[in-house]
Amino acid sequence: MTGQTVKIAALCECGHMAVQQVNQFINRGELWWDAEFSCDSCGSYRCEHAGPGTAPDDEWRQALLAANGAARLRLVRPVPSLVQAMKVFRDVSGVSLPQARGLVEQLSSDGVVGTLAEMEFLKTRLQLRGIPVDVDR
Ligand SMILES: [Zn+2]
Repeated sequence: MTGQTVKIAALCECGHMAVQQVNQFINRGELWWDAEFSCDSCGSYRCEHAGPGTAPDDEWRQALLAANGAARLRLVRPVPSLVQAMKVFRDVSGVSLPQARGLVEQLSSDGVVGTLAEMEFLKTRLQLRGIPVDVDR
């Protein structure tokens, strides 16, 4: 399983420092993320989120990138048409047509950058459509 984790210190209701852990991974072919909170002092534990989709950019995704570094998705060799790649970006990321076009341009130049789980997920989807891509870490 391709996945990444980040732990962030958080204050518990009991007044002690606790840990929030966020995991991003691929689950049954979908990009998933979950968040859990656990406190060693009072033993409280709760799952704060579990489901498909991209982790919220401001808190978790940036923390995942900071802790694990970014992965880069690149075209392995030139292909005659990137229409299929554009479809994948539109389906998977829900972006507009101009945004999808921008992502395709990045794919064939410097690469598309994101968390490892996101890039591995896109890689699988793009390869299914016959687009030769790979992920640099
Ligand atoms: Zn506590």
